Amino acid sequence: MSSCLPISLSDDFNWDPRVSVSPSLRVVPSHRSERQYEVIETSTGGGAKKRPAIFLDRDGTIIDDIGYLSDPGGVAFYQGVPQALKRLQNRGYLLVVVTNQSGIGRGYFDEETAIAVNLAMVEMLREEGVVLASIYYCPHHPEYGCRCRKPGLLMVERAVVDFGIDKDRSWFVGDIDKDVLTGMNAGLKPILVETGKTSKGDLPEGVKRCETVVEAVAFILDQEPVGEPHQAPGYALSKNVILRS
Ligand SMILES: [Mg+2]
Ligand SMILES: [Zn+2]
Repeated sequence: MSSCLPISLSDDFNWDPRVSVSPSLRVVPSHRSERQYEVIETSTGGGAKKRPAIFLDRDGTIIDDIGYLSDPGGVAFYQGVPQALKRLQNRGYLLVVVTNQSGIGRGYFDEETAIAVNLAMVEMLREEGVVLASIYYCPHHPEYGCRCRKPGLLMVERAVVDFGIDKDRSWFVGDIDKDVLTGMNAGLKPILVETGKTSKGDLPEGVKRCETVVEAVAFILDQEPVGEPHQAPGYALSKNVILRS
């Protein structure tokens, strides 16, 4: 069926995240406007084997949530997180951070500041030998009505296309109900971590809870089917690129 085929976007394709796009639509991100996207270098050509990924919320999940973090010097990983992420990386998982940054839309800080914070995190991880595939962030005010702000799925959907991610073998780890819902609705396995300080909301029954990302990583690696080793990650980016949705 044509719906299974990649679709090249015309130049006038509207990337306004408020515009509804069918979740089943596979989109080749080859004509993105520079206004909204930075160029990424991918190695996920046709026929490339799909790879599993761990989607990670940022604030309250991998770094301390001080509320609208706007200081690159304020990035503080929870204990053992870089090492835990390295374990995932070594097992072949792509690492994708998906974060709501409404502080931009609310006017608390500008987009350059948000990028600087993300880059500080990227560099700290790199020093520990951890390479993020990418960071997707939603800059919008909650009332903007975008589809990227979690629990909207746009950021995950784009990452799945950008990196050829195998959703069946992928997880979403986050500290609030929005993260769990994003993971579930995107067809990923959700894990709630209890490091964050925000409301957990009403969660569906049976959602896996872990105290920390370190515990979540141990759980994930325990769930892998025996005898199915992943390929080496083969990261798609030669450098980390911050993408916005
Ligand atoms: Mg969070
Ligand atoms: Zn958004």
